[in-house]
Amino acid sequence: MRYIIITGGVMSGLGKGITAASIGLILKSFGLSVTAIKIDPYVNVDAGTMNPYQHGEVWVTEDGGEIDLDLGHYERFLDQDLLKDHNITTGQIYSEVIEKERRGDYLGQTVQIIPHITDEIKRRCRAISRRTKADVVLIEIGGTVGDIESEPFLEAVRQIRAEETFKNTVFVHVTLVPISKTNEQKTKPTQHSVAVLRERGIQPDFIIARCEEKLKMGSKSKIALFCNLDEGAVISGYDVDDIYKVPLVYEEEGLGNLLCDRLGIARKKSDLKGWRKLVEKTQNANVELEVSMAGKYIGGDSYISIVEALKHAGTYNGAKIKINWINTEEFDDDSKEIKTIGDTDGIVVPGGFGSRGSEGKVRVIRYARQNDIPFLGLCFGFHLATVEFARNKVGPDANSTELNPLTKDPVIDLLPEQKRVKGMGGTMRLGAQPIKVKKGTRAYEIYNNQQIILERHRHRYEVNPAYIKTLEDGGLVFSGVSPDGRMEMLELPSHRYFVATQFHPEFKSRPVNPAPIFKDFVAAMVDFKVNSTKDKK
Ligand code: GLN
Repeated sequence: MRYIIITGGVMSGLGKGITAASIGLILKSFGLSVTAIKIDPYVNVDAGTMNPYQHGEVWVTEDGGEIDLDLGHYERFLDQDLLKDHNITTGQIYSEVIEKERRGDYLGQTVQIIPHITDEIKRRCRAISRRTKADVVLIEIGGTVGDIESEPFLEAVRQIRAEETFKNTVFVHVTLVPISKTNEQKTKPTQHSVAVLRERGIQPDFIIARCEEKLKMGSKSKIALFCNLDEGAVISGYDVDDIYKVPLVYEEEGLGNLLCDRLGIARKKSDLKGWRKLVEKTQNANVELEVSMAGKYIGGDSYISIVEALKHAGTYNGAKIKINWINTEEFDDDSKEIKTIGDTDGIVVPGGFGSRGSEGKVRVIRYARQNDIPFLGLCFGFHLATVEFARNKVGPDANSTELNPLTKDPVIDLLPEQKRVKGMGGTMRLGAQPIKVKKGTRAYEIYNNQQIILERHRHRYEVNPAYIKTLEDGGLVFSGVSPDGRMEMLELPSHRYFVATQFHPEFKSRPVNPAPIFKDFVAAMVDFKVNSTKDKK
């Protein structure tokens, strides 16, 4: 069992997740098998109950985990599915230890952070290593060294080093080198954070110094001297304009060979040719598309998988994607004209919860439908596209009971099994579920004539079966249906591109394998922009 353990210093938000994912990709390029674990020191059992504004998007796994978005980076870079147990939190560890204590498993013992909590952390990491049989297991510890809540995890990985021995474990510490007003690269924060790590008994083997620019030799040697490392072990992690360039940045410094040598792993020559081509293709894309993202949250990481999926599909179609963030709350009342969306090439209404901004989203969808602008609705966007359509064909009060429990026409309603659900955590309809795609629809073409597809879900509401016939008679096509009869996809055949899904195709999109729906959506936007400029508003 070999482990590469990634810690962070100075501050959060340095891109530790991208770094871990990049290391994984580099190791895979040597022909090694890799898996990755993210440790989140917060007390929540998972990210499912957390506000995306604070913590970014909730990532959904095939097996229905609602977990940290870094797992999304791992899946995208590694091009492999990871199960929910690859995200370990304080909440999970303590729940399990307390449950064992109540059961009497520790009878007679005083249950303590060391060894009981640390043993449970190590047990989980090793279980993943055994199950996946990966040549290398990456473990990223969230937060910053010195945080109170990450202490048991740092202690656990210190013990892993002792037990698995030096030669099988590598510590990579990601820090920040700020540039001062006098234009100097400052290494002191890095020195301090390494000192904090060493107080925990951990000497890093490599330091990845995040900096706006390349590290100067002087900065490298200073960090090496004060942090007890060779200069070669200080890696310059300078800023780039595309996260998929990060592995190439690390390879410039030979990080892959350094890690493999340190772990004594036999490997074939690294091959990042395909990846490099992809990065170049992104760079050279010559159509610029402006996509309006009509959600509740603006920017940040709240819709990161959708933005990445758009980028993947953009590269595939030779297009650069610019996101125009629309706060739909502004459009909740009729006073503001939707035209302010402007010269958009396409509109996405992403997943969401609750009524704030939802009337605005309905209005944005109407604007897309009436003006024949390419439209993609995801989950909540699927619900609201149904609502918008139903307001014309069923009745003006049509709504989702999530938004108006007393509506005369509840076209979107709770899933029957959700009526019995108690508690919020992990109780939605989650993870990969099969969908039958109807022949002769756009969806069937999008999925390349596959009759059954598997896509990831996260919802409590669905299209109310009582309204399906009226909606279909009105011209709405439900092009995907689950084997047990739930509506999963809709489209308007008369429209340039009007597709919405109950599921989240964004969770399965990878740079090397963009999600089919996004590929088609971006192709439709390119066509709209390039071939129909004349009839654009
Ligand atoms: N709020 C909706 C539901 O619970 C949609 C969820 C989502 O967009 N992920 O069904």
